[in-house]
Amino acid sequence: MARQFLKTNLCLLVLLLMVTGGCQKDNTEAPTNANPTTEKKLYVVATTSMITDILKNIGRDRIDVTGIVGEGVDPHLYKPTAGDVERLKDAEIIFYNGLNLEVKIMGVVLDKIADKTKAVAVTAGILRSQFRTSSEFQGGYDPHVWHDVSLWMKAAEKVRDTLAQADPNNAEYYRSNAKNYLAALKILHDDLQNLAAQIPAQRRVLVTTHDAFGYLGRAYGFEVRGLQGLNTETEAGVADVRDLAAFIIEHRIPAMFVETSTPPQGIEAVQAAVQAQGFEVEIGGGLFADTMGTPGTPEGTYIGSMRHNMDTIMNALRAELAYQRQ
Ligand SMILES: [Zn+2]
Repeated sequence: MARQFLKTNLCLLVLLLMVTGGCQKDNTEAPTNANPTTEKKLYVVATTSMITDILKNIGRDRIDVTGIVGEGVDPHLYKPTAGDVERLKDAEIIFYNGLNLEVKIMGVVLDKIADKTKAVAVTAGILRSQFRTSSEFQGGYDPHVWHDVSLWMKAAEKVRDTLAQADPNNAEYYRSNAKNYLAALKILHDDLQNLAAQIPAQRRVLVTTHDAFGYLGRAYGFEVRGLQGLNTETEAGVADVRDLAAFIIEHRIPAMFVETSTPPQGIEAVQAAVQAQGFEVEIGGGLFADTMGTPGTPEGTYIGSMRHNMDTIMNALRAELAYQRQ
């Protein structure tokens, strides 16, 4: 009885406080718990498809996301269209890779947006000591961090924290989605390590068009040889082709790989140079270097494209070592 009395009075007191509080409040202020269907979604723009994929996994239906660099397009070289610039200006947040990957996009955009703080580099949460250093690339760091899944998890955490801060009403939703996505990425990382370990160590040499796979090599135990430097703008010279052909013959490398976003001519020239000396080397298939596969296919996701790369490498390097024809 006494408890009931206390409860009733407490309810009255709360009600009274709410009413008086309400009278003092500015009546024009919008209710914080508006109907979610009428709430304007956060509008975010991402440069590369790997970042767009993080956003789709963490933001899902609570954000509007547009990706700038499409399937099979080289982000090092991509120049934004007038439409891209408008989208980037309209965006509430711009997520970009950083480390000078998409220099032509960000060089144009950072000059045109008033609020520079809305541009967020997903690599900003990674310790500098974790980056591969290279004098071949502007700024001295290799930007291809997504090829080490454990580093890309840091990029996903940066996206999670940025979305949660910008849109606190949905913060728990973003955190919950991020938890699931990070768990899937951890499984991916472990799987790639286990798969790579099945190839004998001396055969774990990855010869490709440009040095996009340095992080993959470091994380999963491959020596990486690229025909071009890190930046696809530099032409592979005759000396590069000759040196790489000599390396392949010397180490009996069974296969090289082409990339989906850079032309295969360089790698084909190396194959011809190897064959001219009486040896054979296969072109083991296409790897996703700086973009992912066709949207709607398994390779059209970050996880699917990373699995495709490791499966392609596995299938080619499991083959017998390069052999002499005569
Ligand atoms: Zn690249």
